[in-house]
Amino acid sequence: MAWKTLDDMDLNGKVALVRVDINVPIEEGQVTDDTRIQKIVPTVKDIIAAGGKPVLLAHFGRPKGQVVPALSLEMLVPALSNALGLPVKFASNCIGGPAKTAVSELKTGEVLLLENTRFHAGEEKNDRELSASMAALGEVYVNDAFSAAHRAHASTVGIAEILPSCAGRLMAAELKALEAALGAPERPVTAVVGGAKVSTKLELLGNLVTKVDNLIIGGGMANTFLVAQGIDVGKSLAEHDMAETAREILAKAKDSGCVIVLPSDVVVAREFKAGAASDVVAADACPSDAMILDAGPKSVEQVSAIFEASKTLIWNGPLGAFEIEPFDVATNAAAARAAALTVEGKLISVAGGGDTVAALNKAGAAKDFTYISTAGGAFLEWMEGKELPGVAALSA
Ligand code: ADP
Ligand code: MG
Repeated sequence: MAWKTLDDMDLNGKVALVRVDINVPIEEGQVTDDTRIQKIVPTVKDIIAAGGKPVLLAHFGRPKGQVVPALSLEMLVPALSNALGLPVKFASNCIGGPAKTAVSELKTGEVLLLENTRFHAGEEKNDRELSASMAALGEVYVNDAFSAAHRAHASTVGIAEILPSCAGRLMAAELKALEAALGAPERPVTAVVGGAKVSTKLELLGNLVTKVDNLIIGGGMANTFLVAQGIDVGKSLAEHDMAETAREILAKAKDSGCVIVLPSDVVVAREFKAGAASDVVAADACPSDAMILDAGPKSVEQVSAIFEASKTLIWNGPLGAFEIEPFDVATNAAAARAAALTVEGKLISVAGGGDTVAALNKAGAAKDFTYISTAGGAFLEWMEGKELPGVAALSA
């Protein structure tokens, strides 16, 4: 899929409407993690450097089409201004009089933030009238919110259909990384899918077995695959009603020539708490009163060997219950191996997912991955092979 970037657009003297994701965590009026704000800085600065005037469109929380003062974006003005090092103005509505006036008063070198797009019911309905009212405020549309691209909303799709449109820097970086991982990857490609449940990642597994050379299954969902092969997993987290589905995935993998890798040994414990006594046993030898909480050392060795023989890695889901020590060992070790191979230039590594990003950060490996997607739902839908409406709307 081809899309334009900021470099393809004439921004000089133009008002650029920029869809961003600044849905940051807030406690008592203070931004507790400004990562999402930091990530839009290059796009905003590049627009200004090209002589454009950035006008930011964003949602915050779930006001469901109502004006909810507690979800006003005005509270983000100081954090935005701080991150950008620029004056940030605010308009109390993303359309109509307040927005028009604020745009007309905006000076070069200033940024304008418009009020929460989801204060309008038309936003989530991709309402034409709302899209047109937003589009009327500017001359160019820039989408820098990959994390909102799985939703066909007025500010992500409708407006792109009206104005000349392009991807912002963050969106472009994300698309490039994802394309490198699954679009036209260097082979062999290995995917790691872990986490708690098969049921939440069915479409993901179904798509990956048709695209990757190796699929390493870890975490709680590996237990379901062990059950599917008639193995007793004791008190482990496992979805016994998904055993048939797991067998179907195994069969589909076989047809597609995808090698499925399940743990050969596992770490078991009787209690799910920090420092609980644990043992390493073969994957088919979980005691009936114990739970599988991590992959074992032989499995980690096998995973490392597969990483070493791969050119591309895509990772979603931890290999064990990484939040609690010592059940983070396999995830940490595999993450460290992937990070080292990436640093050596031998592996392209892309990872995403809420808990996955937390696990890779905890392992100290995230900084060395080729790309870490913070897009959550959009990343998963993309991995599932779905077309993201916000991206499709940008394609030239
Ligand atoms: P992501 O958010 O990256 O998509 P998931 O939410 O699917 O990842 O999975 C993460 C969760 O899976 C973590 O809370 C982790 O504790 C849990 N998990 C991993 N392995 C096991 C296991 N063997 N038993 C129970 N829970 C597990
Ligand atoms: Mg999760």
